[in-house]
Amino acid sequence: MSSLPPRPGIMDITPYVGGESKLPGVDRVIKLASNEGPFGPSPKAMEAFKETAPELHRYPDGGAWGLTGAIAEKYGIDRSRIVCGAGSDEILGLLCRAYAGPGDEVLYSDHGFLMYYIAAKTAGATPVTAPEVDLTANVDNLLAAVNEKTKIVFLANPNNPTGTYISKAELERLHAGLPNNVVFVIDAAYAEFIEEADYEAGIELANKHDNVIMTRTFSKLYGLGGLRIGWAYGSAEIIDVLHRVRNPFNTSNAAQAAALGAVNDDAFVEKTLKHNRKWLEWTTEEARRLGLTVPDSYANFVLIRFPEDDGKTAEAADAFLRQRGLIVRRMVPYKLADSLRVTIGLEDEMRLFVEALRDYMRT
Ligand SMILES: *Cc1c(COP(=O)(O)O)cnc(C)c1O
Repeated sequence: MSSLPPRPGIMDITPYVGGESKLPGVDRVIKLASNEGPFGPSPKAMEAFKETAPELHRYPDGGAWGLTGAIAEKYGIDRSRIVCGAGSDEILGLLCRAYAGPGDEVLYSDHGFLMYYIAAKTAGATPVTAPEVDLTANVDNLLAAVNEKTKIVFLANPNNPTGTYISKAELERLHAGLPNNVVFVIDAAYAEFIEEADYEAGIELANKHDNVIMTRTFSKLYGLGGLRIGWAYGSAEIIDVLHRVRNPFNTSNAAQAAALGAVNDDAFVEKTLKHNRKWLEWTTEEARRLGLTVPDSYANFVLIRFPEDDGKTAEAADAFLRQRGLIVRRMVPYKLADSLRVTIGLEDEMRLFVEALRDYMRT
C-alpha cells in the first residue's frame, strides 16, 4: 500500500488512452481512431487561431463572452445559460464533481462513453450501467436503474462508440421518468452529424427543465480536438454551479478564438457533412457486404463487429490493419471486445481501409 493513497475510487480508474497516431516502421499512417474529422481543422478556425499569437501573454476572458455570444446567436439560445469548457470532457467531469460524491450513483447505458466512468470515479461516486437493446440506450432499462442514490444520468446521443441514437420522444420519456433532483446530462458531441427528423439534441429539453444540461464539442465536426474547447447549455441553476467549480481560465484565448471562427464556417461544415454522409454509408455497406455486423451509425464513425470464434476476431483484424498502416480503435474498455470503431476519413483512406478489411476477411 502506498503511504499517499488518493481518495477512494481513484486507483480503480484505468487512465484513458487516446487513439494512437504512430506505427513503428510504417511510413504512411492512416489514423481512423479518434473521430477527428477528415479535413483537418476548420480554415476559419485556423485563421482566427493564428491571430491570437501576439495576445498570448493575456489571460483569456474566463466567461468566453465572444464565443458564448456567437453560439447563442447560432442556436437561438440564452448566452447566460452557456458555459465553455476545455473540451466537453471537462464539463462532464465538473458535473460529477459538483453533483455526485461518495455514496451517490451516476447512471449511463452499458456501452456509454468511457468518460462517464472516469468522471464518476474521480468524484468518488459509483458508476452504474443499464443494459442496452440492439446496442442502443434503452429508456426503460435506464429508468429501472434509477434509485434514491442516483444523482446524474449521462446519455450520449448519438452514442460513441455505437453510433446509435434515441428519438426526441424517447429522450423526453427518459427525462419525464427521472426525479427532479437528478441532473440529466445529454452529451450531444455528434449532434451536427445526425439528420433524422425525430432527433433533438437537447436544447428544447434544456429550455424547459431545470435539471437538464446539453454538452457540445468543437472536437469532432469542427476538427479542433487538439485545442480542447466545448460548451454546455443548461438551466440557469446548473450553469451557475458550473461557473463556481470551473477554473477561472479554463479555456484559452486561442481556443476561444478558433472556436469563434469555426462556429461561422458554414462552408467547412457543409463540406464535412456531405463527405461524412457519403463515406459513412459506403463504409457501412462495404463492411456488411463482407459479412460483418455494423449498426446504423449517425455520427462520424462506424462500429464494426467481428465474429468471436472463427479466427476472424476484432483483435486479429486490428493487428492486420496495423500492418497496413491503419489505426482504428479497439473497444475492449467499452465491453465490445468483438468490435472495432472506425472513424470516417478521406476517400482514399476509406478505400484503403475497406481493401485491407476485405483482404483480412478473405485470407
Ligand atoms: C469526443 C467525445 C466527447 C468529448 O469531446 P471533447 O474533445 O472533450 O470536447 C464527449 N462525448 C462523446 C460521446 C465523445 O465522443
